[in-house]
Amino acid sequence: MPTYKAPARDARFIINEVLRIEQYADLPGFDAATPDLVETVLDEAGKFAAEVWAPLNLPGDQEGCTRHPDGSVTAPTGFKDAYQQYVEAGWGTLGMPAEFGGQGLPHVLGFAVEEFLCAANQSLAMYPGLTSGAVSALLTKGSAEQQALYLPKMVSGEWTGTMNLTEPQCGTDLGLIRTRAVPQMDGSYAITGTKIFISAGEHDLSENIIHLVLAKTPDAPDSTKGISLFVVPKILVNPDGSLGARNAVSCGSIEHKMGIHGNATCVMNYDGATGYMVGEENKGLAAMFIMMNAARLGVGIQGVAQADVAYQNGVSYAAERRQGRALTGPAEPGEKADPLFVHPDVRRMLMDAKAFTEGARALALWCGLLVDLSHLAATEEERQQADDLLGLLTPVIKGYGTDKGYDVATAMQQIWGGHGYIAENGMEQFVRDARIAMIYEGANGVQAMDLVGRKLPAHMGRAIQTFFAVVDRECADARGDNRLADVAAKVEKANGELKAATMWFMQNGMANPNNAGAGAHHYMHIMGIVSLGLMWLRMARTAAVALDAGGGDAAYYQAKLTTARFFAERYAPDAGALRRKIEGGAEAVMALPLEAFATA
Ligand SMILES: Cc1cc2nc3c(=O)[nH]c(=O)nc-3n(C[C@H](O)[C@H](O)[C@H](O)COP(=O)(O)OP(=O)(O)OC[C@H]3O[C@@H](n4cnc5c(N)ncnc54)[C@H](O)[C@@H]3O)c2cc1C
Repeated sequence: MPTYKAPARDARFIINEVLRIEQYADLPGFDAATPDLVETVLDEAGKFAAEVWAPLNLPGDQEGCTRHPDGSVTAPTGFKDAYQQYVEAGWGTLGMPAEFGGQGLPHVLGFAVEEFLCAANQSLAMYPGLTSGAVSALLTKGSAEQQALYLPKMVSGEWTGTMNLTEPQCGTDLGLIRTRAVPQMDGSYAITGTKIFISAGEHDLSENIIHLVLAKTPDAPDSTKGISLFVVPKILVNPDGSLGARNAVSCGSIEHKMGIHGNATCVMNYDGATGYMVGEENKGLAAMFIMMNAARLGVGIQGVAQADVAYQNGVSYAAERRQGRALTGPAEPGEKADPLFVHPDVRRMLMDAKAFTEGARALALWCGLLVDLSHLAATEEERQQADDLLGLLTPVIKGYGTDKGYDVATAMQQIWGGHGYIAENGMEQFVRDARIAMIYEGANGVQAMDLVGRKLPAHMGRAIQTFFAVVDRECADARGDNRLADVAAKVEKANGELKAATMWFMQNGMANPNNAGAGAHHYMHIMGIVSLGLMWLRMARTAAVALDAGGGDAAYYQAKLTTARFFAERYAPDAGALRRKIEGGAEAVMALPLEAFATA
């Protein structure tokens, strides 16, 4: 059975020492987030994730969800109780607004807790994860009445939420949506259609499920310009907040799938269900994007989380399993063989995992801080800068974070050799669970196109210029310290490759959009490398200062310096190769006709 211990120490290092959130104490919510409170929340949430949720991960995968003949769905044994404990402890309310019963703490702290919960049990974490995305959409676009009716119980976790976009003929291209919303005399809409692949669409964890559904009104344009957003409760809610009649929405079936077996992936049938429009007619996609952006960061965190739990189990196996001898001679001559840990190729995989996981954790938490600053920073300029960086980094954390999260999970399975392939050991579950994160919330290729096609050119490249300046400044600041100079030089070089690739897109992407499409995924990966390089520079600089101060924990800080060096040596050089791939352009990629792909 795999084990999990929440990386509370590492999250505390990032939040309190690297990001130094104490400096924002005059912003709402941050005043309460003292270093002591951060430590307590991380320790307690970590304990809860490891002790209550993690033990249900493997059995939940083996049992899966069950749909009963009446259309009801039950989550695996133990999930309901574990979710109830989560609600009672208030873990879901951390970053939620106080106005609706939340604790109003900074998102940066909530993101750390989210990582722990996802690593402990991704399937279970998805039930409240989707709820918080639905809450974001209602907070921004819902009417005061809708907010008052739904938000308090969604914030508390008594009700959960879903997002309903996908239909059989409509995945990435939401313009193809067929679900109809017909206005009724009382101002509500009758929603009719079938949605597929709806995560947490039906289950027994909460007394009500609030579905957010994309649909088209009768005269709406038949494209993305004609999509509206509706709130459709499973059980209708009376004006006084009490539960009313069952709505005409039901789960037709649940999918049997590769991973996340503990999360019910449902076909949802809307048969004239009562729904209420959220925001303006035909502006539903913009409203749903609020939810999707929140969810994309959440999915990026899933990538980090699966990498981390797999990494932890890779480390413990490498320490215990004995095979062969160290290349330099027996490390433990008294034993018949040395632990796997002595082999450089095993070390390569472990260091790769460590450098990614800790770097990506820092990136995710920085993004959490940017969410906070984009709303709360003192000046309009600071808010805009945070929003620009967040918009740019969202596809990176989602796309690069989950591509690499999957790679790391696979590499850790590799360390377990044949035993990693055997289901009861749990390593193959991490690989299966990590795989979905590359697909949903916009497939990673689509994330890359969002980055290159939308985020780069927005406001004449304002966001990417800000990002370049942040990286350049960090490199310049680190150059004077000989413990950091080499790392800084290599990150600076990678940033140079990113600048060159950006310039190449400016010169060649407009003339032939296929050039942008063929290089976008590589670009997203260069940006992932530079972003993690930035994080490693920040962490290394903080560690160097802590070592100079001599306050203890020297081994932890020293490991940060060494891992930063590994990152610079082993990740940063890939930026050059990726840039050259981009400069190859689209010609050979697009040249062959479909027949040329046939092998028979
Ligand atoms: C387990 C699971 C849970 C899910 N949960 C939800 C949920 O809660 N709510 C919900 O609404 N949906 C959900 N989905 C649906 C998911 O978001 C979609 O599967 C995903 O968006 C891709 O759509 P598709 O499967 O139709 O693939 P398609 O759109 O058919 O795309 C297939 C592939 O083609 C490529 N592609 C497509 N279009 C483009 C393009 N324009 N540019 C470049 N490449 C492109 C991508 O690589 C993509 O992977 C879930 C899916 C699964 C499997």
